[in-house]
Amino acid sequence: MKIGFIGLGNMGGPMAANLAKAGHEVTGFDMADVKIEGIKMAGSAATAAEGARVVITMLPNGDILRRVADEVIPAMETGAVLLDCSTVDVESARDVAAQAQAAGLSALDAPVSGGVGGAAGGTLTFMVGGDEAGFDIARELFDIMGQKAVHCGPSGNGQAAKICNNMILGATMIATCEAFTLADKLGLERQAMFDVVSTSSGYSWSMNAYCPAPGIGPKSPADNGYQPGFAADLMLKDLRLSQQAAETVDADTPMGRAACDLYAEFVEKEDGKGRDFSAMLPRFETRGRG
Ligand code: NAD
Repeated sequence: MKIGFIGLGNMGGPMAANLAKAGHEVTGFDMADVKIEGIKMAGSAATAAEGARVVITMLPNGDILRRVADEVIPAMETGAVLLDCSTVDVESARDVAAQAQAAGLSALDAPVSGGVGGAAGGTLTFMVGGDEAGFDIARELFDIMGQKAVHCGPSGNGQAAKICNNMILGATMIATCEAFTLADKLGLERQAMFDVVSTSSGYSWSMNAYCPAPGIGPKSPADNGYQPGFAADLMLKDLRLSQQAAETVDADTPMGRAACDLYAEFVEKEDGKGRDFSAMLPRFETRGRG
């Protein structure tokens, strides 16, 4: 399949490389000067999109997606699919999809979970919003870049699933870290805490699969000096998107708001920038109630 790929950063680069490795003809474009094995680089986003059956975007935010969409949609052939895998606000996803559909294209919003490791290993999960016809065309690409693609309904629903998932993740990671700190202060061994919680009703992905305490549970960024992993900055981005969405639809999300405020403090006022989002645990260790 002829594919245009725009945004070849930490995630897009390895995703595009996997498509090329699987035999697809991939033409890429990035603002930065990047080279990816097996990818022919174009001089503009529009050139990368010309003649492609699917144009994939993997960009930092909704404003950039809107700008790139303005450029690529007129260059795409009728019936082609615009497949955005970035994490962006639901409104931008729905507006770009409407713009693409008005131009005779299929549009999918398909944000991912699995991070840079999942992008490199081809084990991402895609949460997909958009029309069935587009999903059917893109399915073989999801199978190469990931291990699972869930069709969540119409345009924007992929982004909705992603930000709801990450709102739960942010809140449970904070709850797990503060509980470890309380347990420490009560004299409970961390291993005992893990053994109980990971098999009791407090269990979660944050505790069981990504334990924020070094040396406990399966290997996680805590065992690597809290190098990301999933950076606290990216968690903050997703929590802000969930708060923006909650405001738009008047949803009451007090835990999500508290998680967002705490990650903002951690990243913007403390030492959270560039650290894994599970570094909330050492943050709590240094604090009391005051
Ligand atoms: P990144 O900053 O490494 O890559 C973004 C790329 O887009 C860069 O190479 C940049 O040069 C390029 N770019 C920016 N503006 C452009 C434009 N106008 N035209 C062409 N290229 C442009 O970011 P990333 O980590 O690859 O993340 C990409 C998206 O994936 C984000 O929306 C992020 O939230 C999401 N995401 C990231 C992770 C992760 O662990 N990194 C996990 C899940 C989802």
